[in-house]
Amino acid sequence: MSDALSFNSNEPIKKGQYTSKYQNAEPDDKNKNWLEGIYRRYYFYHYSQLEVGELINEHEFGFKLFDGKIHRHLAFEDKKELYAYIIKFSPSDIFYSSSRYQNPKAEIDQKGWMGSDLIFDIDGKDLHLECAQSHNLVLCKDCSFISKGIISKCEGCDSTRLQIIDIPCTRCIQSLNVEVKKLIEILHDDFGIDKESIFIYFSGNNGYHIHVVDKNFYGVSAKKRNAFAQYLMGKGYLIENLGIRKNTEGVLFPVHNKVLYNQGWRKRIFDSMHLPIQNHRIDDKFIKKYNRMLVANSNNIQDIIGTHIFDLSAKIDPNVTMDIHRIFRLAGSINSKSGLIKAFCKDLDSFDPFVDACFIGDSNVEIESKLNIKISLKGKQFSIKTGKNTLPEYVAAYVICKGIGDIME
Ligand SMILES: [Zn+2]
Ligand SMILES: [Zn+2]
Repeated sequence: MSDALSFNSNEPIKKGQYTSKYQNAEPDDKNKNWLEGIYRRYYFYHYSQLEVGELINEHEFGFKLFDGKIHRHLAFEDKKELYAYIIKFSPSDIFYSSSRYQNPKAEIDQKGWMGSDLIFDIDGKDLHLECAQSHNLVLCKDCSFISKGIISKCEGCDSTRLQIIDIPCTRCIQSLNVEVKKLIEILHDDFGIDKESIFIYFSGNNGYHIHVVDKNFYGVSAKKRNAFAQYLMGKGYLIENLGIRKNTEGVLFPVHNKVLYNQGWRKRIFDSMHLPIQNHRIDDKFIKKYNRMLVANSNNIQDIIGTHIFDLSAKIDPNVTMDIHRIFRLAGSINSKSGLIKAFCKDLDSFDPFVDACFIGDSNVEIESKLNIKISLKGKQFSIKTGKNTLPEYVAAYVICKGIGDIME
């Protein structure tokens, strides 16, 4: 599941499919009204953060409003028109097509696709991190009880209709950074994509979007984008490409005197197995090393290779990369799952999403929290207690977006 994109443009939007996150909300729901005001103020003062190109009129826009409704197939003549729309409606989420179209307002098959940057999505949820077990929460859709950790049944009512509330920690972000760097290395090493053409964005919640702006990929079809994604994920890699074959009894053996280039997956796998290969020919030296490895790993070499491929592969969501009609969260806009913005990361190592993507104001407000929780934002730690708390607006927005507290006004 992609973090950034809650809907796929190829599927018609079904009635009731995209309901408000404030499911029992009255028309005057106070959380909704408060967030709408907070977001509007952000857009009023920070509209220049929104990253839209000069050819804005060739892109499709989509908006999710605080009433839960999605509006898409929209287009704007210029930035001013877009800003006016955003200030007027103060959407909970703003989406923008990477694709350019002759007619962005038309239905998908009538739009006249002109091309799209290559986009990758890495979502914290897909990494199945150990730390997530300790800090994520689970909301019961039946009784609204919130449990800590990853559970399969509600502690309040035994229901299995559960929704994970991810509260990423700094370790989650570090693990995501490792994945982003792995992807960038493969793009660079195997496809010669210049690092200057790769743009990294924090998704605003628990993931990264990586945009490749390279004219060689701009017009590439969805089918080819999918093949590209499968390659990066190491899917379907054949052991023969390493210079190893299976005989009829299923025993693996190295193929003598074959020339295979030490590049791409082959080089990555052997390097990671500490079996660096010096020349392209499979010679006696290679076979000796291979046999030693076979003995050391008690013959289950295929599983070992599989594990190495898994560890080396890019943990991307292939559906995002192949879907050329998807609309993406607009850079600079607020992610309603957190109140943080989708932010450009100039330098991944020094980027701290809990500081650099937090733009909500810091006047104090009162909230009622549903549980005890520690939250770190803008470099400060907040120990939130069950019940009434006085907190800066940026912490209140985070807590309310996560669905673990209510504004008291
Ligand atoms: Zn329950
Ligand atoms: Zn974590």
